[in-house]
Amino acid sequence: MPQGSDGFSTRAIHDGERKDPTTGALNTPIYATATFAFDTAREKEAAVDAALEWEPGAFFYSRTGNPTTAAFEAKMASLEGAEDCVASSAGMASVAAALLSVLDAGDHCIASDDLFIITRFLLDDVLASKGITVDHVDITDHAAVEAAIRPNTKVLFVEALSNPHMRFADIPALADLAHGHGLVLIVDNTFLSPYLLRPVELGADIVVHAATKYIGGHGDVVAGTAAGSKARVDRMRYYLDSFGGALSVFNSWLLLRGVKTLQMRMRVHSANGLAVAEYLQSRPEVEVVNYPGLASHAQHDLAARTLADGFGGMLSLRFHAGERGMEAFCEGLRLSAIAVSLGDLHSLAYPMPKRNSLVRLSVGCEDVDDLLEDYERGIAAVAAL
Ligand SMILES: *Cc1c(COP(=O)(O)O)cnc(C)c1O
Repeated sequence: MPQGSDGFSTRAIHDGERKDPTTGALNTPIYATATFAFDTAREKEAAVDAALEWEPGAFFYSRTGNPTTAAFEAKMASLEGAEDCVASSAGMASVAAALLSVLDAGDHCIASDDLFIITRFLLDDVLASKGITVDHVDITDHAAVEAAIRPNTKVLFVEALSNPHMRFADIPALADLAHGHGLVLIVDNTFLSPYLLRPVELGADIVVHAATKYIGGHGDVVAGTAAGSKARVDRMRYYLDSFGGALSVFNSWLLLRGVKTLQMRMRVHSANGLAVAEYLQSRPEVEVVNYPGLASHAQHDLAARTLADGFGGMLSLRFHAGERGMEAFCEGLRLSAIAVSLGDLHSLAYPMPKRNSLVRLSVGCEDVDDLLEDYERGIAAVAAL
């Protein structure tokens, strides 16, 4: 049996899973069932009551809980260093469940001014229409965060590494600030993954992930996770059950499979990301590269102190040639797909004409020499403008 002192990869491979008690299958089966049958009316009633009290291992209907999904959730709780974790059908379901499990009508939320765009729509439009107000601040400016706190502020929401400007949040300092004012700190850690950063261990109350990205790691699933204390996760389970945000069982199995290699993949993403960031920064066509592993990054020292093992595979850049540079670079690449999303083994380039003509790169796990040659091809296309 795995022990609490086991290393990250050991836990990624072992935790949450056990030999199947009926067949001895070593891998967790896909329990493809909507419902669960009981011998007696009384057993059914006990299982429903236990499942709706969120007791681990109590199953009666797969919207509320399923053994394959439960194995993935237990593995993720272990990797996050959190008491519990709940999976969902998409990163956005997890972000919404985290926010709605804390915020009620009349409450106020402070959120970063650099956020994943759908999170921004959720806060500024969907939640605003239900009477929850939000202010956006630069979360690297702690005085500005503190100044934004009102008597009805309940939540501080940040991305640990922000989209698309790659600002790095000082989680321990923000947790102190939030808790000093009775706020709940929710961290979206999608860009770094629990291998590089574990916000709950640093004081965050809830950590959410688009498991679609590094946790699944293979670009073949849309899913979310939210982890924290059992009490907070129970409340998010209740919300997700009422929205119908359950993760499909097949996707739970893909995630169980994908997350086993998280440490190995993140080491390659980080090594490739740093090599690519250094190369791009050396090019005169490039105006700015945002990557926390570069000494030029405003929070580089903090990131170097805080991150476990590298700076990940996400960076953004802008060209002196602006939008034309953005287009020429992306269209000049052979290996990177022009696509949204991130955290895939396959490198991706996301041109953002509405975000200052930034290009966001998700540097994949291809051979670094091939990647560097490919980005040189993109740069040559910009130089030829
Ligand atoms: C992709 C993403 C999300 C949303 O996740 P989905 O699985 O696409 O719903 C949330 N936050 C960040 C930072 C993301 O990159």
